[in-house]
Amino acid sequence: MDIQAELISIGNELLSGRTLNTHAQDLGGALSAIGLQLVRDTTIPDDIATIQSAAKEALDRTALIFISGGLGPTIDDITRDAVAGLLKQEIILDRPSVDAIAKRFELRGYPMTPAAERQALVLEGAAVLPNPAGCAPGQRFDLPDNQTLFVLPGPPHEFNAILDEEIIPWLKTRYAGARPKLVRIIKTKGIGESSIVTMLEDAEFDAGHIDLGFYPGMGKVEIRLTAHPDLATEVENAAATLRNLLAGHLDPEA
Ligand code: AMP
Ligand code: MG
Repeated sequence: MDIQAELISIGNELLSGRTLNTHAQDLGGALSAIGLQLVRDTTIPDDIATIQSAAKEALDRTALIFISGGLGPTIDDITRDAVAGLLKQEIILDRPSVDAIAKRFELRGYPMTPAAERQALVLEGAAVLPNPAGCAPGQRFDLPDNQTLFVLPGPPHEFNAILDEEIIPWLKTRYAGARPKLVRIIKTKGIGESSIVTMLEDAEFDAGHIDLGFYPGMGKVEIRLTAHPDLATEVENAAATLRNLLAGHLDPEA
């Protein structure tokens, strides 16, 4: 079973250089850990037509879609309008979310405003995912053919809180048969990527069905072996062969 997911990150600031897009890293790690694969991350501006076309393209190819950003109270927060238009859903006010936002404001001594309440607007057919770290809730939209669309707020601590508390447990149940890939890591030091590759080629090293990733940085190269969970013996053998071939160059601090 190979369950694939896509992320659509929305926000002008993610494209202008103001803000580092951290959602792909967080989502990719959380999904890999439960045996699902993030296969694409598309970053787009706050623009309704672009959001709709990106979401439509993603829905044409992938089972799980995550859309993040643009659910706040300001005029650039247009994600719910874009998604509602695409899925032909009404937007409704979710009472439990209004109450949760009012409670947050009361606790902080802020007056509740209509702008704050707007964050409780959701798509009519969505399952509302409470936000333990902020105002706008997440939303899960179940579509035909086992497709699922999640809409999540942009602030990373809110994105991650809803992911950890609501979405990952739901995905674990939904895809109970999914198993994480096997990962082995070999760290080298003081040898460049091209020298490593030459050594492997000279030894006619064949990774077979194992994916090899090379990640150079600051005099070190990390080699990651990733394999299907049924290939435990193959991945151990490949890792042992690589360690032997690179014996003089392994990072002693790793
Ligand atoms: P928004 O939900 O678009 O109103 O964004 C709220 C805050 O979250 C802003 O400070 C954004 O810059 C930040 N944010 C939104 N998307 C991301 C992302 N993918 N990675 C990191 N920060 C983000
Ligand atoms: Mg934004």
